This record gives sequence, C-alpha cells and structure tokens, in this order.
Amino acid sequence: MQIIYNTLGRQKQTLTTIDPGVVRMYVCGPTVYDFFHIGNARTFTTFDMVFRWLTTIGYEVNYVRNITDIDDKIIERANANNESMEQLTTRMTAAFFEDADRLKLLRPTHSPRATHHIDHMLAIIRQLEERGMAYQAANGDVYYSVREFVGYGKLSRKNPDELRAGERVAVDSAKRDPLDFVLWKSAKQNEPQWPSTFGGGRPGWHIECSAMCKAVLGEQIDIHGGGMDLQFPHHENEIAQTEGTFEKNSGKQFAKVWMHGAFLNIDSEKMSKSLGNFFTLRDVLNKLDTVQGGETVRYLLLRGHYRSEINYSWDMLEDARQTLLGFYIALKETPPAAINLDWANPYAQKFRVAMEDDFDTPAAFAVLHELRRELNRSKSAETAGLLKALGGTLGFFQDVPAAFVQGATQSVAAQMDVDALVAERNAAKKNKDFARADAIRKELDKAGIVLEDKPGGVTEWRRK
Ligand SMILES: [Zn+2]
Repeated sequence: MQIIYNTLGRQKQTLTTIDPGVVRMYVCGPTVYDFFHIGNARTFTTFDMVFRWLTTIGYEVNYVRNITDIDDKIIERANANNESMEQLTTRMTAAFFEDADRLKLLRPTHSPRATHHIDHMLAIIRQLEERGMAYQAANGDVYYSVREFVGYGKLSRKNPDELRAGERVAVDSAKRDPLDFVLWKSAKQNEPQWPSTFGGGRPGWHIECSAMCKAVLGEQIDIHGGGMDLQFPHHENEIAQTEGTFEKNSGKQFAKVWMHGAFLNIDSEKMSKSLGNFFTLRDVLNKLDTVQGGETVRYLLLRGHYRSEINYSWDMLEDARQTLLGFYIALKETPPAAINLDWANPYAQKFRVAMEDDFDTPAAFAVLHELRRELNRSKSAETAGLLKALGGTLGFFQDVPAAFVQGATQSVAAQMDVDALVAERNAAKKNKDFARADAIRKELDKAGIVLEDKPGGVTEWRRK
C-alpha cells in the first residue's frame, strides 16, 4: 500500500488510482531557455524516484513531464541571442535531456511540448469563456476570472481576499480583478503568435500545463507534481482552469494527489541569482568526475526526504561521493549474483516499508547501509545481488563497480584546489604579477582545466 503526502488536504493518504494498477502522473517540466539549475534538478530527480518506485511495486505509470517552449523568458532570451525561438528551444531541449541522462533520470512516458498543443489550450480557453469564467479585455488579452471559481486557494491555502489586498494593480490594467491571470496574450511585435478566435496571440504559462495534461492523460489524473515554488500561483491556476471546465458542483477533481518537492539550499542559503549562488546542474557536473559525478549528485539529491529542505555544498558532494564509493567497493569485492527481488526478504521488506511511507528515502538508504555492512561481513554474492537490486529501484549501483571506483579524476577535494588556484591567479593579475597568473593558467591547462574570464573579474572553469 503506497502512502503519499497530499499537499491538497495536508495529510498522508493511501494512493488509490482512477484506473486500477495504472498511475497517471503529470510533472511540470523545464522552461527551455537556459540550462536547468540544481534546484530544478532536485525536483526532476524526486519525480524520477517516484516514477521508478511506483513502477517497481507493480504500477503501470503513465508519466508526463512537459517541455515549456513558449514563454516570456524564452522570447526575451531568443531576441537577446538574435536567434529564433525554435533555434533556442531546440538547443536547450536537447541540453535538458543530456543533463537529465547524466543524472540517470529515466525518460518520461511522454514529454509533450507546449507549442504542439496550442489548439488544446484554445479549446479550454473557449470552454471557460462560454462558462463565464474567462473574458477578453479591451487590450485583446484573455483573462481567467478568479471570482467565478469557488475553490480558488484550496491548494495553497491562501485566502483570495487577503491575496487581493496584497496585490497592487496598475490603474490602466485590463483585469477585472487583481487575481485574474492571463490565458491568452494578444500578439505583439517581435513575438511569435498563433491565430485564434480571440485574435493572434500566444498562451499564458498556466494554461499550457492544463492543456498538455488533459491532451495526454485526460482531464482527471492521479498525481500532479512539481517544486514547492509552483504551488502558488501556478498549480492553483491549473486547478482553476481544469476544474473550471467541469460541471459545477460535480465534485470532480483534477488531480487526486498533489506532491511538492522542497527547496535545495546552497551552503545553507536560499539559492538566488542575486546572491550569486545560482548553479546550473551542468556547472556542477562539469566540475565533477565524469564517471562518478551524475550518480553522486543524484545521491546528494535523494538522500534527504523530498519534503525536507536539503543543503548543497562541495563538502556534501564529497561526502555523497565517499558514501557511493563505499557501496561500489563492497560490490567490487563481492560480485553480485543475479537475483529476483524477493520482498519477503527482511531487508527488502524493510526497504519497501520505508518507500511506501511517502517515499522515505533516508530510511531506505539506512537499509542499504545495513545491507552493505552485512555484505562486508558475509561476502555473499546473494547479498551483493540484493544490494544492487534494491539500490537499482532508485537508480543506484548499476555501473560496473571497478570502473566507478576508479573514476576519471581523483576527488571533489582535488576540484577545490582548482578554485584556490583560480583565486590565486586572479590575485596575481590584480597585483600585475602576470608571469605568475600565466603560470597558473598553464598548470591548470595541463590538468585539463579551461579558464574563462567573464566580465566583472569573474573567472569560470570547466573540464576540457
Ligand atoms: Zn505546470
């Protein structure tokens, strides 16, 4: 019996699905204007874990994670780069999947792209308009009329009147209510547009997910997931849009369970562009051993419970790497037998109980540690097989142990010396000691490290 904490209702409940044995799961995917950051990586890894685990215990999981390929940020970036929106989103979508692969994320069942579902978006908007839940303003934009949706705020537990009091609306705003949000933006110069009965324009962000979810999974689903930051307003608005098309008082629900992953902090601080501690997953992976890096980050992201904030730092990455090495060394010393997972085995049973209790990965990893200690004592190939199989349900321990242990570089600690050398080089440059600065650059170059001097005196580095 799988127990999941439902944000809607704020309590744990047993998973019961619309179709027996089948889970319809939708997760908000990336907006493909840039590489994704390590906080997004946590969210995507969490739902990869959920996907793998529900599949392991016998569900057929129809897992949809969309690609948002039309959005303000995309238009802005494409214009800044002087390239077309398609060029940008095609490149960044490919990069997204590359990075996701390195984290060992399984491909979802479907990865729909927003621009392929404009018709579905328009169909929902027209339906909402017919029901009096959407209106076209004088400026041509179409808005959702939040006052018409009785349950607004039920997910985030926000009170619409309090929200209204906190909103400042420009005098010339076309909205009837401060909480109304845009469904269709009328066409502007230098922006892509699609024809519609509302005139040329493009979709707002929220409607994209309602439409892709409905088009691929149907209008009712079992699990809707995303990062904590999407709870309000994005998910609240998705509910308003989708349930807004249902018969009034039908009691029909869009998603039965809402799952939200907690934040990832950097060196115990909130990640933000202004603090300068904003890392893309690619930045992080490029600084790590190419053999060990992906699984190391994956382990760091999954060893905390998905609803607890976790911290990210170089020390913690090195700690995660050492832990994984411990497992792989044990598997190298005792090659695992090929086994069928027997859930009656006491270790397997304990592992499953942990995972069935709202995906308690810390407790599940504790079982893996017990199993490793047992393996180090017994050197039993069966025990090694069980360790590999249980780890495998979460995407771990599937590499060839000898290759993983050897790795491609020494350690994360060794990487930290690069940072020190870069700092020393910058200091030397400042003191006009160009010979020293140049010597350091050459030394790093020999070690396969490329330096990139950015405006403002910032130096970034990566492996060749
Ligand atoms: Zn979404």
